[in-house]
Amino acid sequence: MNIKMVDTVGQYQKIKTEVDAAIAGLLEKGFYIGGAAVKQFEQNLGKYVGAAHTIACANGTDALQVALMAIGCKPGDEVLTPSFTYIATVEVIALLQLVPVFVEVHVDTFNIDVADLQKKITAKTKAIIPVHLYGQSADMEAIMEVAQQHDLAVIEDAAQAIGADYTFSDGTKKKVGSIGHIGCTSFYPSKNLGAYGDGGAIFTNDAALAESIRMICNHGQKTRYYHDSIGVNSRLDAIQAAILDIKLTHLDEYNTARRWAASRYDAHFAQVLELVTPFCAANGRHVFHQYTLKVLAGREKRDALKAFLDSKNVPAMIYYPVPSHLQTAYTCYGYKEGNMPHTEELTAQVISLPMHTELTEEQIAYIAAHVIEGLQ
Ligand SMILES: *Cc1c(COP(=O)(O)O)cnc(C)c1O
Repeated sequence: MNIKMVDTVGQYQKIKTEVDAAIAGLLEKGFYIGGAAVKQFEQNLGKYVGAAHTIACANGTDALQVALMAIGCKPGDEVLTPSFTYIATVEVIALLQLVPVFVEVHVDTFNIDVADLQKKITAKTKAIIPVHLYGQSADMEAIMEVAQQHDLAVIEDAAQAIGADYTFSDGTKKKVGSIGHIGCTSFYPSKNLGAYGDGGAIFTNDAALAESIRMICNHGQKTRYYHDSIGVNSRLDAIQAAILDIKLTHLDEYNTARRWAASRYDAHFAQVLELVTPFCAANGRHVFHQYTLKVLAGREKRDALKAFLDSKNVPAMIYYPVPSHLQTAYTCYGYKEGNMPHTEELTAQVISLPMHTELTEEQIAYIAAHVIEGLQ
């Protein structure tokens, strides 16, 4: 059976007519960068996420960097973020000469541990970047409370979780990306809302922040050739915007397909004591960017399972094998093995299985059977 980790081509086949026509329309008009297609997508995406302002940009990493620039961080300011994340979250902090302060995650949700977060706040702390890892919202109500108490900015890294909901204790439901002071997402092709190239977006409900984000993305200018701040060049192609605008109308359906696939995997693994299936917090709606199992026996057994799956052509990935605080590039911040036991344990246990919108019952059964065989 030919199984893919992510099946973007299978998904494309179903919307091909519409997508091809939209691309051809732009090419015939010579619209490449910015313009009406980008504006329309920003409006539709903002409405979907529930953010007053949406600024498209070149990728999710830029979105995070621009967000940190917009809140006025100065070199030496500390930014709290989980160590258990994709490196982009950490990289932008370091690039701006800010100090990443790593926070533990909960071993059940894989998301930032608010008790540990509170312990790490100092007079230099400026911002928190919670990551909605694998498609599940971090505990945003608790995070926003801590941020308010200490006057910190919250920048959501929603790169893996576009469309995920979070429900507050008063019953209010919001989409991730619209809860913090700024939200960031990525349209990397394999993300839940994937472009056919790079793309990203920044959300905020604050008009002043929106203005400064838009300016930073465009070389720090509001009026052409008059530069008020140091900016970057970060923009979304018109073609990507048109593709994303079409795919946005299918996003709920795509996320439902991912949730269905996750529930089928769960059923197959329900009796497998060596594995822990993804935990879904009651106050959220997980959109399964990844379906990530924990192999309780740890690294040796997990790596043997991965090797077995490789040998059978069943794709699987380790997201992420090394925590950020132990990456070679970040040793200058002085962390050592043992500093973050939960995070370190997770990097030895996790394995992510194929997850996309085109998985069939048959494929899931085949993958699950091989996983179970690989544990023997
Ligand atoms: C994908 C991703 C990013 C970066 O997005 P790019 O578009 O690849 O730059 C940032 N954070 C997380 C958690 C991601 O998964």
